[in-house]
Amino acid sequence: MPELPEVETFVRGLAPAVGRTIVSANVLDARLAVSAEDLTGAKIAGIRRRGKYIGIDLGDGRSLVIHLRMSGRLRLECRECETRYTRMILRLDDGQCIYFVDPRRLGTAELVDDGFDLALGFEPLDATFTTAALAELTSQSRAPIKQLLLDQRKVAGIGNIYAAESLWRARIDPRRPANALSKAEVGRLHKAIVGVLGEAIAQLGTTLGTSVSDYRPTAAEGGAFQNHLAVYGREGEPCERCGEGIERMIQAGRSTCFCPACQR
Ligand SMILES: [Zn+2]
Repeated sequence: MPELPEVETFVRGLAPAVGRTIVSANVLDARLAVSAEDLTGAKIAGIRRRGKYIGIDLGDGRSLVIHLRMSGRLRLECRECETRYTRMILRLDDGQCIYFVDPRRLGTAELVDDGFDLALGFEPLDATFTTAALAELTSQSRAPIKQLLLDQRKVAGIGNIYAAESLWRARIDPRRPANALSKAEVGRLHKAIVGVLGEAIAQLGTTLGTSVSDYRPTAAEGGAFQNHLAVYGREGEPCERCGEGIERMIQAGRSTCFCPACQR
């Protein structure tokens, strides 16, 4: 599932569409809560990310808000490249098209009025997400720290991959109650989250496989952060920090990979 770095990569790839006008739109899936008439003629005033959401601002107070869920992607292409998985096409006045492709069809698109205001927690790469802010969040929760990181109302954009990687880097057991973390541990975790997300964006995200549903930032290439994962998907392999075997457990219905020796 695309998490913050993958969604950010799509948003950056869409930057040339800003300032362009949508000359026509095809909404190919009736499950999307938007129509071609809504979009045709609108000028794209900005494209932003908030957590795992993408907001295309239409300059008149409306925003097209898209969540990619499991397998969605939103890319700018120079020519028609429709596939059976294309759910929406926005044709721009410079000949380029924005394609919303989504093999599993779980992604959402809807038009919202009054901007792009979502009930989400801290944006982890914003200046407002300080160590003190994270300490405030952890002190208020007895939930396992990994579940707190996945709670989009607390911190937005982190999913299963980057929660596991951040906790490994901070040497914290994912099952620890959030409010039991020491000040030093919260400091390490904050640094780890910011570091892992920043590095993953620089690597254009994590591409785990080659199926049509796997994340790819461009038609030609995948991301590269999968080559830097320390625990996610590495069950049974030695921990690169201590040599112990990486283990996998199920936590609140989600798979969690961790090192049982150096994550305390
Ligand atoms: Zn280890």
